[in-house]
Amino acid sequence: MAKYILAIDQGTTSSRAIIYDATLQQLACAQQELTLSYPHSGWVEQDATELWQSVVSCIRKVLYKAGISASDLAGIGITNQRETTLVWHKTTGKALYPAIVWQDRRTAAQCQQLKDAGLEPLLQQKTGLLADPYFSASKLSWILQHVPNARQQAERGELCFGTVDCYLLWQLSGGKVHATDASNASRTLLFNIHRQCWDDELLKMFNIPAAILPTVQDNAASFAVTAVDVLAAEVPILAMIGDQQAALLGQACTETGMSKSTYGTGCFTVVNTGPTVLSSQHKLLSTVAWRLNGSTTYALEGSIFMAGATVQWLRDQLGIISTAADSETLAQGVSYQQTELLIPAFTGLGAPYWQPEVKAALFGMGRDSGKSEIAAAALRSVAYQSCDLLQAIQQDGLTVQQLRVDGGMTANRWFLQALADLTQKQVLRCQTTDATAMGAAFLVALHLGIYPDVSAMQTVWRSDYQISPVLAKADADKLHQRWQHLVSSLLSIKL
Ligand code: ADP
Repeated sequence: MAKYILAIDQGTTSSRAIIYDATLQQLACAQQELTLSYPHSGWVEQDATELWQSVVSCIRKVLYKAGISASDLAGIGITNQRETTLVWHKTTGKALYPAIVWQDRRTAAQCQQLKDAGLEPLLQQKTGLLADPYFSASKLSWILQHVPNARQQAERGELCFGTVDCYLLWQLSGGKVHATDASNASRTLLFNIHRQCWDDELLKMFNIPAAILPTVQDNAASFAVTAVDVLAAEVPILAMIGDQQAALLGQACTETGMSKSTYGTGCFTVVNTGPTVLSSQHKLLSTVAWRLNGSTTYALEGSIFMAGATVQWLRDQLGIISTAADSETLAQGVSYQQTELLIPAFTGLGAPYWQPEVKAALFGMGRDSGKSEIAAAALRSVAYQSCDLLQAIQQDGLTVQQLRVDGGMTANRWFLQALADLTQKQVLRCQTTDATAMGAAFLVALHLGIYPDVSAMQTVWRSDYQISPVLAKADADKLHQRWQHLVSSLLSIKL
């Protein structure tokens, strides 16, 4: 009897595959780094074949490490970087263009035109999102416009559009199933989150032929079975969910008002708002957390583009650290008296500012400013951006009691202390570094009937590290105000 669960976590910087047993204990994990390419300023792409091959290779490696074969798997769950946009041929499965990654800003002008035409409130009302290049619609529209013959082929029904979940499902099923799930669909800017369907008016606005779209399923469903030439067994794919929603579930935020923040490449704070869509007055996004048995749980989300990516910048562009972990060693001992501030708007600013054109700034340098101060400023910039998000959430009427955190950056304890200090919240790190994969695995287990309902995730969740603020609230408020003052000054500068 098949008894293991495979979670595929296809992220921005790497793909991972993890095997769990029926009690959601992790047995083995395999990971492969991915290449990102930046063909022009503001453009971010990934090779579709490399992306798919990385997943296949992780699955093979993890099965080998766990000492099991594909036929021992009871089900597969997929979680993925969201919004990243792919278009491929129905017959060959070949992508027409590299995946346009969520960070890509090439469609900023098109989105600005929608704003100028006064269409953003309509978009926000229907999708819970904003007119921003971050989401899939303008990326898809760009591919249809710029790849020769793409539009004609799309209109003839020869092409498939999908986010990464959908592309992987297509490939795993041997080209048989073109489907996505409600959480991923809710990130496209084409999906009506109230009516839970693709929206004709939005398709017209972005000039997208309906024939290119996948069907939208619940997050736990019998999506497909794997093709035997891919995995040597017909394994059911039983769950798909966008990575941030998966982490919300993996962090057991199953009650209204509970929230998690994931600090990976970017940072995503997501709050469960229950069965109601909470419309933000402060540019946060309303989104589908999960849809199960046709009933939808919604969430409010604030996304920051540069979290761990700021640390990568220290490593790859400045060369002041050789590994991400070195940032912790460098920042030790830099006090809150430091005047250096880094605003990491390398790809514009996300929530709550949503300014795609603004550029990064390093400010407040003295003659003695050096690597340590820059590293500390980089780590603190992520905490300051979290303060911005929590303030916006509060102004929208929700109070976050504690921060449940996960993601690569939470290995850094100096950062976690800064986060607790500046946000003035207790920070609880998830025991597993793979809360995202855990969320997807849990959905598979739910579908298999191992757990009765989503609230059972509470019994699985554990924290391995907790930290409380030691900085006085008045000092934290002053520092945050200084940060906000600098951000607003930066926003007023036209480069
Ligand atoms: P993603 O899922 O978005 O690919 P991960 O959760 O794997 O991201 O986290 C990777 C990010 O975490 C990288 O951007 C890296 O710079 C950052 N990171 C990893 N370890 C540390 C550390 N010890 N200190 C600071 N940042 C770290």
